[in-house]
Amino acid sequence: MPYQTQEERRSFQADLAVYDSLADQSLPPHRFVGKGELSAIEPLLSRDVCEGAALFYEAQVLSPERLCLEYILDAEQAGACILNYTRVVRSIREFGRLVGVVAQCQTSGAEVEYRAKLIVNASGPWCDHVCESITGCSCSMSRKTKGIHVATRLALRNAIVFRSSSDGRQLMAVPLLGSTLIGTTDTDFCGNPQDARVEHDEMLYLLRSSERIVPDVASAPLLYTTAGVRSLIASSGDPSSVTRSHKIVDGQHTGLQGLLSVVGGKITTSRAVAEDVTNTICNQLGNSELCSTADRPIPGARPGKLQPSVTDGISTETLAHLDEIYGSRATEVLNIAANEPSLQKPLSPAGPEIAAEIVFAIRREHARHLSDVFFRRSVLAYRPDTGAGAIHKTTQIVAREFGWCDSRIKVELAPLIEWTERHLHV
Ligand SMILES: Cc1cc2nc3c(=O)[nH]c(=O)nc-3n(C[C@H](O)[C@H](O)[C@H](O)COP(=O)(O)OP(=O)(O)OC[C@H]3O[C@@H](n4cnc5c(N)ncnc54)[C@H](O)[C@@H]3O)c2cc1C
Repeated sequence: MPYQTQEERRSFQADLAVYDSLADQSLPPHRFVGKGELSAIEPLLSRDVCEGAALFYEAQVLSPERLCLEYILDAEQAGACILNYTRVVRSIREFGRLVGVVAQCQTSGAEVEYRAKLIVNASGPWCDHVCESITGCSCSMSRKTKGIHVATRLALRNAIVFRSSSDGRQLMAVPLLGSTLIGTTDTDFCGNPQDARVEHDEMLYLLRSSERIVPDVASAPLLYTTAGVRSLIASSGDPSSVTRSHKIVDGQHTGLQGLLSVVGGKITTSRAVAEDVTNTICNQLGNSELCSTADRPIPGARPGKLQPSVTDGISTETLAHLDEIYGSRATEVLNIAANEPSLQKPLSPAGPEIAAEIVFAIRREHARHLSDVFFRRSVLAYRPDTGAGAIHKTTQIVAREFGWCDSRIKVELAPLIEWTERHLHV
């Protein structure tokens, strides 16, 4: 976190003392570095602007999509039934109480009834929409804000937290998979979250806001942009001042017993949110037990043992990548590769991914479409070439696994081609 004045340094000192006391105690405490050490640690920061910096430590989720998937796989291992591409479309009510939902398979159009003692609406920025389709009444539990990121070819070594030079908002530039992600914005959003798009002036805002601190941003090639929508607890004021904590809204108070809606929260707090929801469910069902999973590792974080024989023929770069992406589940990917040596081959010269990962995503990770594999199971789309080098082989493998004909392949390829083309022209 670079500082430009001694006054700013003093304010960081006070904030980071609090941060250290709340942070994971296994992380080293913050420390300050002067101009000389800073330019050795992070040469891309402007020496004219930065007088020094506070160094502090924070955890980074390489792929939020895969973290979510790990939760899903864990739930499945614990007995949950997982339905991908299935949308809740309406409610089943008996005597004023919600007793189930009708869900529609987005592939076949088939509708199935699911009955339960309690229904939890955990649909993030869609929570009001889902609540409306269940209750038939208008809901305004959440405030939706859009955030965008821009990925550039900038080779930052560390994540940087800094203030926008145009409006003073806090921004970040974070190294990720060979690029640097600059973000984010926070503007009110209405409409369907899946329609959120990056506007040109939002992108310019992020780039111009960063150039004073990191001048090379001006010349670094742009790689891709992303837009997402947050679900925040409904409240007024500046979007960035709205709390990022969560709330469980009990349908009982809005005339629909049997429905709990989760509003707000963050990836950082996702396990705490889940614990809160579980305890609320137990309480409502008259079960005196409390959620006991706080210290339970997710599947890829459980101890696993790599058999030396299955790593034969796999590069050290790929082994490190598999370990980073799958944790102990890397063994399962390697077992697939060991049984079918053609799957040991890299998908592209641009990254360490191998063909076995694609098969693994389909056989073990509920991938149903090419886009699932490309954007949500692997990190191919977020490599500096936005996955262009891997599209061909990935498509061949997915088509082979599912037995797709040419016309189906064409349909499946459309969103990937749209993604790579869009980002070749950002
Ligand atoms: C730009 C941006 C930056 C962020 N940065 C951070 C950060 O640095 N750290 C952090 O901790 N958090 C961050 N967040 C917040 C974090 O991404 C969210 O808190 C988190 O993704 C919310 O998870 P969720 O499961 O509640 O919602 P989502 O991940 O949105 O999942 C909701 C799911 O509900 C499904 N759904 C919708 N309607 C239906 C229906 N009718 N039937 C069935 N399913 C349905 C959707 O398809 C979706 O899969 C950021 C968010 C944004 C937008």
